[in-house]
Amino acid sequence: MNYHLQWQTRTVDCRSCYKPITSGDKAVRESYANYKGFRRMRFYHLVCFLQKLALWFEGNEYVPKARGRKPQIVPNGSHKLRNSLISKYSYWMRKKRQLILEDNLEGASKLDSKLTQVKDSMRVIGGVPKSWGR
Ligand SMILES: [Zn+2]
Repeated sequence: MNYHLQWQTRTVDCRSCYKPITSGDKAVRESYANYKGFRRMRFYHLVCFLQKLALWFEGNEYVPKARGRKPQIVPNGSHKLRNSLISKYSYWMRKKRQLILEDNLEGASKLDSKLTQVKDSMRVIGGVPKSWGR
């Protein structure tokens, strides 16, 4: 919906109080698309529109929203251990990818046990990251 402030140039009825808005009045023009997608217009007296706005703010209370990334819920003091496990995991993954590129599938499957070990120790301290799979 779009709202325009304008000096009224023709007489229309206000959508809020249903009294006519005569030309020369301060008015708010609301334009919107109805359910069929056609552009429609509604007109309000400036005062009626401000009342409508005030009603909206009464009906919709302010809910403060925290911005940014949610803080991670991790047992106290395990951040350092988690970070070291994450770097270990990415190191083994890098190694595995490299072995797969070199067609050394046997060596790559040997790394799987190390990766699951890291995952298991992560599960104890705050859970496995989503990007690691389950
Ligand atoms: Zn009005």
